[in-house]
Amino acid sequence: MKTDVFISGGGIGGLTLALKLVQRGVDVVLAERLSKKPPTYKGELLQPKSMQIFDSIGIYEEICERSNEIKVLDMLELSSTLKVQDQSFMDYSVLPGKYDAAYMVHHEELKSIILEAALMFTNFHYFNGTACKSLSENKAVLQKGKETFEVEARFFFGAEGRASVTRKSMGIEVKQTTYNHHFLTVSFPRAENFKDGKIISTYNRFLGLFPLPDNMVRSVYLIPEGDYKELKEKPISHFHKLYTDLAPAVDGYVQQLTDWKKIQLMIPIMYHAPSYVKTNKAIIGDAAHAVHPMAGEGMNMAIQDADILGELVADMKETGKLDPSNLKWYEKVRYKRADHVIQLSHLAALAYSFPFKPVSYLRKRTFERMEEDPILHFKQMLNVSGLGMWKENVRDRFIQGGIMPIRIRDLPPSTKELKYFTREDDYPWKVEGLL
Ligand SMILES: Cc1cc2nc3c(=O)[nH]c(=O)nc-3n(C[C@H](O)[C@H](O)[C@H](O)COP(=O)(O)OP(=O)(O)OC[C@H]3O[C@@H](n4cnc5c(N)ncnc54)[C@H](O)[C@@H]3O)c2cc1C
Repeated sequence: MKTDVFISGGGIGGLTLALKLVQRGVDVVLAERLSKKPPTYKGELLQPKSMQIFDSIGIYEEICERSNEIKVLDMLELSSTLKVQDQSFMDYSVLPGKYDAAYMVHHEELKSIILEAALMFTNFHYFNGTACKSLSENKAVLQKGKETFEVEARFFFGAEGRASVTRKSMGIEVKQTTYNHHFLTVSFPRAENFKDGKIISTYNRFLGLFPLPDNMVRSVYLIPEGDYKELKEKPISHFHKLYTDLAPAVDGYVQQLTDWKKIQLMIPIMYHAPSYVKTNKAIIGDAAHAVHPMAGEGMNMAIQDADILGELVADMKETGKLDPSNLKWYEKVRYKRADHVIQLSHLAALAYSFPFKPVSYLRKRTFERMEEDPILHFKQMLNVSGLGMWKENVRDRFIQGGIMPIRIRDLPPSTKELKYFTREDDYPWKVEGLL
């Protein structure tokens, strides 16, 4: 079998890449190892940049209809007696324009929206239950059951997640950073009017609640590394109490979980591959980088990688400039953006990693000032959204630390929009003569 592009892995990254390419007439073969939906949880929070990308490929409305819009993340810091000490907000509406909210969507549902859109194209060849076993310069060896077959392609893209066959065949190694904590994660029913996200913490506890559609809520609860086994031996009522202590709003709902079996352990790790491209191969998403889940960015990074690589390869095909050295543009655009998000997520993780009162005090103060200073607030939301990148400077740090006063005046929307990535920032090779 021959094709233009072979994609290994049909997660969110691989499917988004496939959809972008087939819409532009590129012939794509995609192999996905699994034959049915996995029962495990994965990313469900879509940031504004991902929504902008989905808008550009025609699936924005459907995703909006099947998700819960989140405008505000409510951050509550509780005292050791569980009284609210401080409340601040991360408000997406400080972002001017159409993409001023995040969306919670069931991971497998999002995958099926993208897959169904791609399957409308006859130049899309989808093989599920089919694992990519190895790659050479111009062939992928695939296995479906006992049968083995080969696909010849001009380009090979690895979207297999953390254990990437493509990354291995490119000889790229990653160095993992681990954390001193893990998370319990599970979804359960919620009250109909519980619509905004909530992050509730004490000096030594953390609970994140992210409302999904269908009156469900996804939760993440931080536990010290190694505590999972011991916890699971306790009655499930112990788990309920961990939640209801911090969030009375889930009382009467979390109790609908009656078995530890539904509760998944999530182990955060961080790595960034030293490069994404080698000859006619490239890696995207978790194959290229893993990010601490605190800022809800992993799935979004996969979507953003797919957007840039997909646009580039479609342009290469359209202009006949198929030299693999052009793939460098993908890495040029994405590497520094991904690095910034990885660092942001790592910092957010550190803010909740140390169970000491002075750390909790500093965190509370930083969030308070971030909310009060409109420029800091905008920077934070811009960086999280993926719509642009505006690093914090020394003045910002001084304001956060209380050394300098907060700024009162907000920026006008037109100035804020200047900080958004432009079409030229996203797709710089489109400038005449660069490809
Ligand atoms: C429990 C959990 C919670 C998370 N929560 C969030 C969140 O709230 N927000 C967020 O943004 N991110 C979150 N993430 C991270 C997010 O899910 C990932 O970053 C995202 O799914 C990466 O997408 P991907 O397409 O790169 O890889 P994956 O989603 O891992 O998809 C890879 C696909 O490749 C397939 N595959 C693997 N090997 C092969 C092979 N050899 N041949 C063929 N197919 C293969 C796999 O079966 C899989 O379908 C979470 C992750 C986990 C595990």
